[in-house]
Amino acid sequence: MAGEPLVLVVEDEPAQREVLAYNIRAEGYDVHTVASGDEALVAVQETPPDVIVLDWMLPAVSGIEVCRQLKMGTDTAKIPIIMLSARSEEIDKVRGLETGADDYVTKPYSVAELLARVRTQLRRVRPATVGERLEYEDIAIDLAEHRTYRGGDELHLGPTEYRLLTAFMERPGRVWSREQLLDRVWGRDIYVDSRTVDVHVGRLRKALKVGEAGDPIRTVRGAGYALG
Ligand code: CA
Repeated sequence: MAGEPLVLVVEDEPAQREVLAYNIRAEGYDVHTVASGDEALVAVQETPPDVIVLDWMLPAVSGIEVCRQLKMGTDTAKIPIIMLSARSEEIDKVRGLETGADDYVTKPYSVAELLARVRTQLRRVRPATVGERLEYEDIAIDLAEHRTYRGGDELHLGPTEYRLLTAFMERPGRVWSREQLLDRVWGRDIYVDSRTVDVHVGRLRKALKVGEAGDPIRTVRGAGYALG
């Protein structure tokens, strides 16, 4: 589905993998599951997830090694990682090794607890998926009511422009490539010509033009678009 947060689950035990995938999906998120560290590294490169749930005990490449490699990568360092471990001593060790994991959960864990941790990480990286309101300068989005405002005026956006603005507002200043916007706004599995992005950014700019207010969207030559 377009715009849903993507959670990558890395767990070699099939039953645990299924339970996690089922529950994360029930929460309304997209899930990608893999059974090994190697597959995890490939999956992250191919389709960067918003959050990774990573088991410590994996065959061949361990969870710790996966974590370390991702945290060293310039493109992957910011993806939150929740490490799963069978024993609290292992978690102490992960912490001590400074792998850069963002959170730690000891098995056996309750699914509700793990989902709460996933939400906490998403609140940082994808605020629109868990919050109720986004604001940037004089622009505001009421996520619960799907209404957008500039200054005091309500804006009238089409559904695509609304999702575009939400993506921009989640990460002001971030430069989005057309491909990244396609993945986020149109969906990862859908083929849309990248010029379509330009058309909808143009519409969004027009919709954001209220009175004397300036254009908040910046075109970054050769790279894409950014808010502010
Ligand atoms: Ca395991």
